This record gives sequence, structure tokens and C-alpha cells, in this order.
Amino acid sequence: MMVHLDTASADPFVLEQMHALVKKSRDRRDIGLEVLPVPLPGPGQVLIETEAVGLCGSDIHAINGHVGYEWMPERVTLGHEAVGRIVRTGANVDSACIGNRVVPMAIDGCLECETCLSGAPQLCLERDCLGLSFDGALAQYFVLDADRVFVIDNSLRASVAALIEPAAVAAHAVGQLAENLRGRRVVVSGPGAVGILSCLFAAAAGADVELVCPEAGPQTRREFAEHLGIKTIYGHHGLAAGPPVDAWIEASGAEAAFSGAVESLRRGGTLVVVALFARAPSFDVNQMVRGELRLYGTYGYTRADYSTAHELLVGWQDRLEPMVSTYHLTDVDAAISATEQASVIKAVVVPGGATKTITGSTKDDLSH
Ligand SMILES: [Zn+2]
Ligand SMILES: [Zn+2]
Repeated sequence: MMVHLDTASADPFVLEQMHALVKKSRDRRDIGLEVLPVPLPGPGQVLIETEAVGLCGSDIHAINGHVGYEWMPERVTLGHEAVGRIVRTGANVDSACIGNRVVPMAIDGCLECETCLSGAPQLCLERDCLGLSFDGALAQYFVLDADRVFVIDNSLRASVAALIEPAAVAAHAVGQLAENLRGRRVVVSGPGAVGILSCLFAAAAGADVELVCPEAGPQTRREFAEHLGIKTIYGHHGLAAGPPVDAWIEASGAEAAFSGAVESLRRGGTLVVVALFARAPSFDVNQMVRGELRLYGTYGYTRADYSTAHELLVGWQDRLEPMVSTYHLTDVDAAISATEQASVIKAVVVPGGATKTITGSTKDDLSH
């Protein structure tokens, strides 16, 4: 039977099927849009109707089966930078949360171990990630543990709310610079979403920020950063002039950026690495040692970083919305290509809209 879902009065329980973008095996680019059952929330879980979900470099690595992603299950629905509305609750979850607009804590820990209880769930040995470790949000619905949703302001538009996860990554990276940033010279390498958002957080903390952009390839990202008032430079050799560099946030994953940071930082300066690298970068270790450079890895985020990210996005919504290019789920191939080619800053996929009419069945049929 064909069921037409009217968005305004959507009752998800007339549907038992949905579209989902599935990574089907470990083979390179073995992905496809499949019709799957709408998942049911288990005890302690909620069912979320997806409004939008962003794509990022991790999705591209997963899709291409790159080194460092072997831990992923053979088969999984992708999508972790999500926003949606809670439409159903499992056992032991207060149904008062139904209707809340939420973003998932995509990376989270067990919330029970010593590390999690100390406030660092991103370092938990049991940590996992929505859409990489288990079925994610590149679907019309997804389930998630109720204690890993973050409730957002209703004024936040879905396309911008999908930026909360990368914004939380950026907030966490900038948070590694414990020193007072006022008047400090901070360089960020990599004009992707995390790089641009890191610039905004560092600037908000009073730093003088420069963004290192690649000379080759599409200039969309550099132009947008400049439009936001961020000073951009081409390659780290553009840095010669000016006061010593106090801190550097590496968000590109490019070896030249990493070694450029070690060359350019002042003695005692700080290098924060948020990008993951396809292969280990080589750099002048002696210069790092003799200069007493401090090297920090930064991964994921905490709930506090989500609050910081949410606050920035609510305040900057109009200015940041052009950062997003929207695609329907049926057009996800174009979103993936644009992300790979860096021709957009952030591709955001909307699973509803054009794909609302799908083969479904009636409420009574969902009694299993
Ligand atoms: Zn991501
Ligand atoms: Zn834990």
C-alpha cells in the first residue's frame, strides 16, 4: 500500500518503512539508498524523525573504506551530524520529551565508567559514534539512547542545527588552549566547517585569528570565511610577517600544515590537532623539543561543548546559514561528491520532502 506522509500532521506510526543510506559492506563505495523498517526504540531509547543531517570527512572515509575505519561494522546506516524531533519513546523514558527538537551527542561514552564520570565521555574506552558504530541518521528515522540527546532552541533552523556537532568539535579544540586568548595570534589551518568554526570560537575569546587556506582547488570555503570577517592566507608561508604565532589549530589533515605549524609557532607555543590524517605526518621533532612546543590532540566533545556550540549557532544563525548546501536524501550522491571535492563548505541532507511518499503500511500492522 502507498502511504502519503503529510508533514504537517505526520504520524510516524502509519509508516513501517523508510529510506536510509546504508554502507553495505567493507568494499569501497558499496553504499545504497535502501528501504528499511522504521526502527523501534528499545528501553531507554527514543525514536527521532530526522530533519537534516550533515556530511563530513568521516563519512567520506567510511564510504571509501579508508585506513583507520576498520572498526566500523560491515553494514551500517551512515549519518551522525543530525537534528530531528523525538516522535516516540521506548520503555523507561518519560514521554514528555516527545516533540522536543534535539541533536544527538554523536560521539559519546558509556556514561558509567570513571572516565565518563570525570567529564570526559569522548575518551571512554566504550565510546561509540552514531552512524559509524551503529545505525545513524541518514534516514527518515533513527533511534538513540535518550541520555545522548541535546535539546535545541526551536528558533534554530534545521540546516544550521546540523552544524552543532562540528561546532562542538571546534569548541572542544579551542577549549584545549587553556591560556587567555585575548590579543594572542592564533592560526587555524583548514577552511572546512571545523576550521571556520574554530576561527569563530578563537576570535570570540579575543584572539587575532588567521585561517590558512589551500591555494589550489575551489575557493568557496576561503571566500565564505572572508565574508564572515576571518582573515585568510594562502599556505603557511604567507605567515612570515607579523608577531610570533602563539597557537595553531590544525584542522586540515595536510602534512604541510602540520610541519608548517611546528616551524611557525613561537617557542612555548601550542599546537592543537583536531584533524585526522590519512597517513602520519613527518615534522621537525627537534624543533618541537627545543622550542618546548605543546602538542595537544583533541577529539569529540563534551556536553558543555554542545552548549557552547548551540549558543554560537543561535547567535550567528543568519550569518552561518549560507555555510550549508542542502540536498535531498535521493540526491545524496551529489552531496557526497561535493563534500569530497570541497566545492561546498557543508553538505546537509534532508531525508524528508521529496522522499515522503514511500511504501508503507497502516498503524495496525506495526504491532510486532
Ligand atoms: Zn562529522
Ligand atoms: Zn565510559
